[in-house]
Amino acid sequence: MKTIVIASNNAHKAREIAEALDFPGWEFKTLRQLGIDSDPVEDADTFLGNARIKALAAHEASGGKAVLADDSGLEVDVLDGAPGVYSARYAGEGATDADNNEKLLSALANVSDRDRTARFACTLVLVDEDGSETVARGTIEGRIGHEERGSNGFGYDPLFLPDVFADGRTLAEALPEEKNAVSHRGNALRELRSKLEAKR
Ligand code: IMP
Repeated sequence: MKTIVIASNNAHKAREIAEALDFPGWEFKTLRQLGIDSDPVEDADTFLGNARIKALAAHEASGGKAVLADDSGLEVDVLDGAPGVYSARYAGEGATDADNNEKLLSALANVSDRDRTARFACTLVLVDEDGSETVARGTIEGRIGHEERGSNGFGYDPLFLPDVFADGRTLAEALPEEKNAVSHRGNALRELRSKLEAKR
């Protein structure tokens, strides 16, 4: 069994990763499950930069285990790509998902439906036991709604209306497997999977 350390303590992300990357013989464990303390400062200005910081810190802290790190966020076009790499702390350090969603709704209060276009973006970095890196990216296009709807998922999911959902549901109204099938993280994981299969 090959253990891949997920360089995150976000249980939602960990679940999405483990469900989407179900290689036989692979098991995923979060830092917390392995008792590894790794919480580096994510001060890069790109998703790739921050994912590499998290992956390399966890690789080091785990004594050289294979590590998968995700960095992701929401880019709203009319806000010039904000909150972007600041998505987790848009409403300030220690902000909750509810705080961030409220701030986003306020920022878009006078913005018409046509101009509420946005995307989630995800960059994954896998650092293998030998230190080699594999990078994959994914996005999902959509719009920001006018109120929170749904209780699945996390973060900005209750406000995000994917273009691929013809019925107007938010990502938080989708089942986990429906989200994985279309999401930025799901798309990045599928790209990662095919890159890893090609290397085998
Ligand atoms: P990170 O954990 O530093 O990568 O921060 C990512 C932040 O982006 C999260 O805290 C959420 O606010 C937002 N985010 C990333 N992926 C998703 C998603 O799948 N749904 C909703 N929000 C997301």
